Amino acid sequence: MSNISLGIIGGGQLGSMLTVAAKKFDIKVVVYCDDKDGPAQNFCDEYIHASYNDQNKINEFVQKVDLITYEFENIPYQTLNEMNNSKPVLPKPSVNRIIQHRIAEKDFVNKFNIRTTRYAVVEKKSDLEALGDLLPGILKTTTLGYDGKGQYPIKSHEDIEKLNIDFSKEYILERLIKLKQEISVIVTRFGVNSYEVYEPIENKHEDQILKYSEIPANISENILNQSKEWATLLAEELKYVGTMCVEFFVDRNDNLYVNEIAPRVHNSGHLTINAFNVSQFENHIRAVCKLDRIPLKKLSNAKMINLIGEDILHYRQNPTLEKNQFFFDYLKKEVKKKRKMGHLTTLI
Ligand code: ADP
Ligand code: MG
Repeated sequence: MSNISLGIIGGGQLGSMLTVAAKKFDIKVVVYCDDKDGPAQNFCDEYIHASYNDQNKINEFVQKVDLITYEFENIPYQTLNEMNNSKPVLPKPSVNRIIQHRIAEKDFVNKFNIRTTRYAVVEKKSDLEALGDLLPGILKTTTLGYDGKGQYPIKSHEDIEKLNIDFSKEYILERLIKLKQEISVIVTRFGVNSYEVYEPIENKHEDQILKYSEIPANISENILNQSKEWATLLAEELKYVGTMCVEFFVDRNDNLYVNEIAPRVHNSGHLTINAFNVSQFENHIRAVCKLDRIPLKKLSNAKMINLIGEDILHYRQNPTLEKNQFFFDYLKKEVKKKRKMGHLTTLI
């Protein structure tokens, strides 16, 4: 075993895949998770099941590790910051403070003259009525949303009356973009001007949940270069260490917009496990644990399909796969509608 002990917050599929990547280097992995059934417990050395505000358990976790990383961005900033006072948390907590909040995130992106959709803060119903030029739009909670949760499409003023929106929360109203495509760029930053960048991945969503990812993306040279440039610039400006993902929109006039930044490994990058010499997970571990950086090489084009809800059952029962196909079961005990249960990557 190497002498590094790595703490990972979150024990879902991303935490599992990070753990598997770390075990390749014999790193000791301690996972902290609020779900007693988190699948990462199948792979890690130690699994601490407790809530994210259980101070005693958090202290115990921090004692056991040399450094800490995480699989999801919604851990309270305060918790990360306190952990960071005793052991390094990477990427650093200030990154999360920006990205956890959709307004702070978009303000940050716009600071570098990088395009986003137009948006405004909505704190009460009457704010919405004054924002007609942002319609049609999507109203989103400013914090804690994922997989389209906490989002309301609003076409016109009549919709505002019909929707039963809980205004005890704060929202952002984003103008709807006439989407031609969605792409994502995954970048691992090791330090000042030191990166490995994956080529843009083309993504298709169903019900606002990622369903298909594919490389190469069917985009112009211009969009390819611009998206990689913006993703690395944002990583540099955040002084990011590890793997992050920038989600982009491409509109019908081929304009590129940043949709959002994920300060973590990303679902669209699952195909990197089979299609590249180093996966997004391994690169994250290499960057946060200060291991060697190896030049990235694509081994094959690929497409990935997410197995959502009952999609998984067929693959669990009848795993006849071609040689170029790789099935991943996240080993989640309960099959739920809209829950990401596994994925299938096909090299093409
Ligand atoms: P989440 O945090 O749930 O991933 P996103 O902001 O990425 O939220 O929205 C989920 C999906 O909804 C996007 O990938 C896109 O398909 C659609 N969407 C969100 N915002 C817009 C927008 N302003 N214009 C067009 N489509 C959007
Ligand atoms: Mg998204």
